[in-house]
Amino acid sequence: MPVTCEGFVASESGWRQKSNGSAERGSRATDHAERVAWAKLPGSAAFLLVQNAYPCCDCHQFFKGESLKGHAIVIKVDDNQGDYSADHFQDARGRPILRGSLPCIIYYFNGVSTHVTMSDAMAGRASGPPANFPAIPDLPE
Ligand SMILES: [Zn+2]
Repeated sequence: MPVTCEGFVASESGWRQKSNGSAERGSRATDHAERVAWAKLPGSAAFLLVQNAYPCCDCHQFFKGESLKGHAIVIKVDDNQGDYSADHFQDARGRPILRGSLPCIIYYFNGVSTHVTMSDAMAGRASGPPANFPAIPDLPE
């Protein structure tokens, strides 16, 4: 199953879809779905990418870098196609977690990523955007 991504920009009336991307397993990171969708988005105060996979470690670093350019980026991960969960989560002994919690929201801001999962929200841990992240519309279910 290919990884697919839909790109949105924030507007007064909510998130507006402006792009999409798709990639087959094994494609180069620069051709990954979120990179394709990202490249087609117009300027905005905040961006949302919704995809059926965690970003690979390459794309994860790429979006940290983009956030250093002043972009506020949210990636909503709602499936684990691509099996990149292990690039994001390790257990207490440092072993990769192959099936990360879903959905997972990743905020990229000022070069730092913040992961928020349903388990965080249900455990009463911080479950919103990081401090000083721009105001954004509610995320799609
Ligand atoms: Zn990637």
